[in-house]
Amino acid sequence: VDGTTQAIYQLHTAAQRLYQHILLNTTSGEQALAYLHDKRQLTDDIIKNFGIGFVPEDNALLSYAHDQNISREVLQASELFISNDQGELRDRFSDRIVWPIKTERGQVIGFSGRARNANNSIKYMNSPESPFFTKGKILYNFDRAKNQIRQTNTVMIFEGFMDVIAADMAENPIGVATMGTALTREHVKQLARVAQRILLVYDGDVAGQNAARRSIDLIHEYAQNVDIGVIHLPDNLDPDEVRIQLGLLALKQALEQNIQTPVEFLVNTARVGKNLSNQVQYLAFLQEVMQILKVASPVEQDIQLMRIANEFGTSKQALQAQLQQSIDQKA
Ligand code: ATP
Ligand code: MN
Ligand code: MN
Ligand code: MN
Repeated sequence: VDGTTQAIYQLHTAAQRLYQHILLNTTSGEQALAYLHDKRQLTDDIIKNFGIGFVPEDNALLSYAHDQNISREVLQASELFISNDQGELRDRFSDRIVWPIKTERGQVIGFSGRARNANNSIKYMNSPESPFFTKGKILYNFDRAKNQIRQTNTVMIFEGFMDVIAADMAENPIGVATMGTALTREHVKQLARVAQRILLVYDGDVAGQNAARRSIDLIHEYAQNVDIGVIHLPDNLDPDEVRIQLGLLALKQALEQNIQTPVEFLVNTARVGKNLSNQVQYLAFLQEVMQILKVASPVEQDIQLMRIANEFGTSKQALQAQLQQSIDQKA
């Protein structure tokens, strides 16, 4: 890396230390710390382990950078500041709680900042895309989790970094998250190098289900030898909400037990929003199911058709015949 990049890295490392110090040890961090303790149920140990900090409104990082005589070129290229119309810089993440984002090797290269009161402003803000901060390649927590992922041969992918932290607290320190973006081919390849099992733990809402579906396709495409599991969480909660509302043990159990195969997950998702006692909607559901099953293994086909036969009283032979029709149509 060249001198400018080196200086940018150093500034990020210093920023992380400064922001954490402000959160834990100063009065300007008090309210943010109370929020993390009370609302998010985080201990100081967790805050330290994950390097969480707070950015006050007094441009603390800019003052530090001026004291260190860091050049304006480095300040601007670092993307840690924003400039106004007059070209004056100020700390980008002002009045936000910040989580450091690191490379696979543990170098801080950016932050994600959360507004304490998400009603007043945009909830999350990330460092912008730059030559050293490329969201399509970054996996939150990969540096911390990599050894455990290798040892267990398993990685869990979450939507948010608070979900990764919640899983870590629930004794599943094998979580990573994308930076508010979809999973990419690069992510999949990176993970397939260290684990043969990828567990998707997305939020229980529609957005989360759609994301899971896209990720399943992508993993099938770029990592054929990887086993996929989809973890279903109770009550449409995200993992961090499960921890806070139902408890650490409930999250631990869900992560270790509520695993579905992709086929199971897709078939279950096909039911959502349909009234299956209505014949038109039941037939539409079956159409979707057959599209899923025609690329499934014989055993999974059998399991799913049996379930449907039992639940809806349609004969297994009729379901089998319809599946065969769907297969023939495409061939
Ligand atoms: P919290 O629990 O703090 O309310 P969350 O992690 O549950 O937040 P979601 O709304 O489920 O938040 O979003 C999941 C992830 O998507 C976040 O962790 C964040 O990385 C990313 N994200 C959400 N909103 C934005 C945004 N406006 N810009 C960038 N990234 C975002
Ligand atoms: Mn969500
Ligand atoms: Mn969420
Ligand atoms: Mn959440």
